Amino acid sequence: MQSDQEVEELRRLIERARRAVVFTGAGISTESGIPDFRSPGGIWTKQAPIDFQDFVSSEDARRLSWRRRFASDPVMRNAEPNRGHRAVATLVRRGKVASIITQNIDGLHQASGVPAEQVIELHGNTTFAHCLTCGQRYEIEALRPAFERDGTAPRCTWCDGLVKTATISFGQQMPAEAMRRAEIETLAADLFITVGSSLVVYPAAGFPELAKHNGATLVIVNRDPTGLDALADLVVNRLIGDTLGAAVGVN
Ligand SMILES: [Zn+2]
Repeated sequence: MQSDQEVEELRRLIERARRAVVFTGAGISTESGIPDFRSPGGIWTKQAPIDFQDFVSSEDARRLSWRRRFASDPVMRNAEPNRGHRAVATLVRRGKVASIITQNIDGLHQASGVPAEQVIELHGNTTFAHCLTCGQRYEIEALRPAFERDGTAPRCTWCDGLVKTATISFGQQMPAEAMRRAEIETLAADLFITVGSSLVVYPAAGFPELAKHNGATLVIVNRDPTGLDALADLVVNRLIGDTLGAAVGVN
């Protein structure tokens, strides 16, 4: 299919939908300069991710984890939503998209104006931290001075619990409430658009499958082919911002 025909088909499917869900992965945020951890050549091929059990049991692992987080902070803080995020936010504002399910931890959907309650984060959020024991929230920048002063990993001022970015690490259980909401939204959707996900990580990749088996139309927008292309009604292998921007009419 010619690329303008693909965009036209996507536009038509969106127009026809009553309730759409957008499912996003790293690809939408790489266009904002956020590195893709899992891709070939991505950060995790150079530095192994820190397992949750190691974080909990080892001060060295916690220090390493925080050292990496502070090192990546300028990238995270300076990243801004791109045309793809703006197109998705527009669909939310128009009432076309009820919820965004995301594998991303960068908070860029919220930064593009989507209310936080409409963003379901399967892997948590790295733009803030919380206490693993009592849940107290901490801002990243507020934790930096003490870390730079004594080099110890932050602890909760209320209960002395371990403070960790609000992300889901390897070896950590998927967040039950987010998983439950994502399933409900998936089953309620008549159009399911996956954007920038290679659809290889389970259980996250199970949602597009569930949507399709439940009778929804499945669209995959991703730079490269994905594991679920054969299942999809429309596959668009192009840049995300350009594709969604053109289909939604957003610059
Ligand atoms: Zn605490």
